[in-house]
This record gives sequence, structure tokens and C-alpha cells, in this order.
Amino acid sequence: MPELPEVETIRRDLLSHVVGRTITGVHVAADASRVIRGVPVRVFARRIAGRRIEALARRGKYLLFRFDGARAPVYLAVHLRMTGSLLYRRVVDPPDSYVRAVITLDDGSELRYADLRKLGQMWLVGSPEEAVGALGPEPLDAAFTAAKLRETLSRRRAPIKAVLLDQRAVAGLGNIYADEALFVARIHPLRLANTLSEPEAKRLHRAIRRVLNDALGNRGSSFRDYVDAAGREGTHQLRVKVFRRTGQPCYVCRTEVARIKVGGRSTHLCPRCQPEESDRDVAAAK
Ligand SMILES: [Zn+2]
Repeated sequence: MPELPEVETIRRDLLSHVVGRTITGVHVAADASRVIRGVPVRVFARRIAGRRIEALARRGKYLLFRFDGARAPVYLAVHLRMTGSLLYRRVVDPPDSYVRAVITLDDGSELRYADLRKLGQMWLVGSPEEAVGALGPEPLDAAFTAAKLRETLSRRRAPIKAVLLDQRAVAGLGNIYADEALFVARIHPLRLANTLSEPEAKRLHRAIRRVLNDALGNRGSSFRDYVDAAGREGTHQLRVKVFRRTGQPCYVCRTEVARIKVGGRSTHLCPRCQPEESDRDVAAAK
């Protein structure tokens, strides 16, 4: 599933192409009508046609196209879920596979929404919150501090991996970057969030930002379906430290990377670099 670095890569790719353009038409495939949420497809198409894209933002894993309506702004929110992608093409370009919806722009270009499994979703809403719900802080924003993270974790008696996946705690992390951040921070994924020490929370805060920024620099990770707005794969899957490296040697200590389940999700870790005891327990045992 595309996570923050993948969605942000798509946003940056699209930005200069679509902002200022006017939508001239929308076509949704008959078998993909459930991608459009809240209103019937024909209502969606009628409401979006003729609108000018004023801005393109991102919140968590959501893309947010802003239009200026007659009275108030209107937003098109897009969530790519498992296999969705948003391709920027010319109308005359060759067809792409699994295209479920096409948004035509006034300069001969179009946005093709491709989605093998048709699990992605689009909403036309009056405020971003109507689509995204109660999301936690953006981990790359200045407002996301180590103290803020520690405060969030102190209220959660659940495995730290599960808390990192909870979009209400931190927005935009998924399975790849939660595992990677915990490895970089040397924290076992099953540690209860409220037992993290201050140094551990600081390490985790730094690790989350570092992992996301590194992945952004590599244009995201393409383990299966993710492609950018030009249909190209990212390269961060070649740089991950533990994610889907089960049985391979840890780059730090050569111990085999292990896989466990946390809250039903496959979780990858180095059992030696990420011991189950906290720093505090280790200090007390000495
Ligand atoms: Zn290791």
C-alpha cells in the first residue's frame, strides 16, 4: 500500500502539471462505481466538471485537490488503498492497465486512476476532514516533536508497532515504514507504547523522520504495485533494512531478520538490535 513517501512523491510529480488546470470531464468505468464515495457517479462527474484545480495537498495517505467553489472551497480527496495509482498522461498516450476513472484536463492531459483491486476511494467534500477523519500529526511537520510523540505514546497501552500504524496517532505510516523506523530506533515492535523511555521516544521520533525522508529521496518503495505519476517504480525497496528481509542477515549485526505478527500484520525485526527489554530494564540488570 502506498504510504506517506509514495503519496507525497505522486503529489510532487502532479503539482506543476495540474494546479491551475480546469477539469473538462470525468469518466468512471461502470464496474468501478464503488470507488466514488458519498454520491452516485453521475452526480460526482457533474459536480467536478468545469472546476479549476487551485491546490494539491496531502494529509496522511490522502491526496487533496482543492477547487474554489462559488461559496466555499470543495475538495477531491483520493486514497489509493492497496493497488491504486494516479497517472498523469496526455489524452493521446497509449492506454494503461486497470484504469477505472479518467479525469480530463483542459490542456490535453488527463489523470488516469488505475487500480487492479478497485479498493481505492474518492470523495468530493466541503472540508478535508469529511474524508480523512481524525488524523494524527504529519510526521515531517515541525509541529511533530519528540515530546508530542511521547505524549501520544504515553496514553497507549498497545504494541508500539500497532500504535505507529494507527493513523490517529501519526498520519501516513504503514507497514513498511513502521518496521523500518522501529529497526532504526532499536525498539522491539511488541514493546507497549506507554513503556517507552524518553530516550527511546526521541530515537523513534528521529527514526520516523529519517526513514520517511530517505524513502522520499528514493521516490518511495515499489514492492508490488506502487508506481509514481509517470508510471515508474520507486527505488527505496532496494534500501530497506528489515522490511521483507526475513532470514537475511541484519546489516548491523548479521543476525537473521525475523518475522512476527503484530495485530495481524507481518512485522520484520532484528531480534538482536531490537531486544524485547527496554533500555531501562537493561540498565537495571547491570
Ligand atoms: Zn541486528
